[in-house]
Amino acid sequence: MEKGERIGSLFRDDQKYLNKEVRVNGWVRTRRDSRAGVSFIELNDGSCLKSLQLVVDFHDPSLQETLTRVTTGCSLSVKGQVVPSPGKGQSIELHAREMTLLGEADPAGYPLQKKRHSFEFLRQIAHLRPRTNTLGAVARVRSRISHAIHQFFQERHFFYIQTPIITASDCEGAGEVFQVTAPGFSGEPAGREEPAGKGEFFGKPAYLTVSGQLQAEIYALALGKVYTFGPTFRAENSNTSRHLAEFWMVEPEMAFCDLAEDLRVAEEFIRHLVEVVLRDCAEDLDFFTRFVESSLPQVLEQVHREPFEVITYTEAVHLLKKSRESFVYPVQWGNDLQAEHERHLTENIFKKPVAVIHFPRSLKPFYMRVNDDGETVAAMDILVPGTGEIIGGSQREERTEVLLEQMQRKLVPRESYEWYVDLRRYGSVPHSGFGLGLERLVQFVTGLPNIREVIPFPRTPGHADF
Ligand code: ATP
Ligand code: MN
Repeated sequence: MEKGERIGSLFRDDQKYLNKEVRVNGWVRTRRDSRAGVSFIELNDGSCLKSLQLVVDFHDPSLQETLTRVTTGCSLSVKGQVVPSPGKGQSIELHAREMTLLGEADPAGYPLQKKRHSFEFLRQIAHLRPRTNTLGAVARVRSRISHAIHQFFQERHFFYIQTPIITASDCEGAGEVFQVTAPGFSGEPAGREEPAGKGEFFGKPAYLTVSGQLQAEIYALALGKVYTFGPTFRAENSNTSRHLAEFWMVEPEMAFCDLAEDLRVAEEFIRHLVEVVLRDCAEDLDFFTRFVESSLPQVLEQVHREPFEVITYTEAVHLLKKSRESFVYPVQWGNDLQAEHERHLTENIFKKPVAVIHFPRSLKPFYMRVNDDGETVAAMDILVPGTGEIIGGSQREERTEVLLEQMQRKLVPRESYEWYVDLRRYGSVPHSGFGLGLERLVQFVTGLPNIREVIPFPRTPGHADF
């Protein structure tokens, strides 16, 4: 095929392309025929939100036959001249000279018609939904953010570590794991004598990872600063607008780092990603502002400008009690903060992102560092307006004795974590890290209310289509 130009490039560099002849390829969004025998076709190729207007003269014999077959959804390859557009909202349009229909789209069957479709309906046609404005914009923003995540850490000399998707750490995530089995595998795993693992491919039960943190710690305690960025699985049977069974998590882990520094990096990280989106995804953001969440520019500009609020869990409980809001879940020291509490803190009390630190020991996992009060751990949750928690992190317990005591209290099987304790026995150092859910961040910057719209193929209880 003759190489074409991306429509996004034409709009970006319109002066350069003006009066030039170019080829573009894409899918027809709409078609409108004027009485004067001219057709206006909106062609979108996904490179940007905007479609390019094709002006096609029906009287041109070389175009006539193709034009009769052009319908919404069909794919076209078009050659023509870029000219200034008299129309509103577009600087240029294309006067078609040559047009090939690559693939038809039966108008009777094509599900994406001009009207607005519900997100629920679009999920059922996940093979076509990236052709809509909303899902196309999400995909572009998500891609830009993914790249910026790598950039952020690479520029700061973190190393990218690929942690395993299959793990056999016994109690990771407790009830929330998916088990990995090989149907039909009945043999003795090669190289193992113990009968215990018979029928288990890995010689023992194995699971899909719920976090790469523990393995990232291994590498942080050798390379200093590392991060992981990969798929994460949790069998949470919660049908909320913020939980997926498969999502992507970014987990930096830093040696020689305490909670204060951890928080500083996390805040800088979120601010950086928001700045990149504001700078590089302006057209898509403008779309989300107009059609999804009108307060988006203010919310994002504020993250860009103002420092986050930092409060302890104990202060948060105090503020929530004082607020006299009627919550579904009671506010009490020792209870976890629920989504409604998180929202109240970020949306009503502080009206900006809030980092809550130092949670009760009983609420958090065994690896978080016990504070001097003996009651709390050096944990942090970063909450943002609208989405709630987007980051969870902590300083890790680096003292062997305290770690062992924590494991005992929380009934963590010691055999499975001897290696984790070893990291404390041999050259232990203070270290910290956090996990950011990619989809929660994309929700935050797009304003989309449901997490299922910010991942190409959402997996939730009862749903694993496409
Ligand atoms: P939540 O309380 O919202 O369920 P969590 O405390 O279980 O989250 P962590 O274990 O701290 O979450 O995971 C770190 C981050 O991963 C969270 O802050 C969130 O951004 C993201 N995350 C966790 N669970 C999910 C999920 N099921 N779907 C999408 N993102 C998630
Ligand atoms: Mn959870």
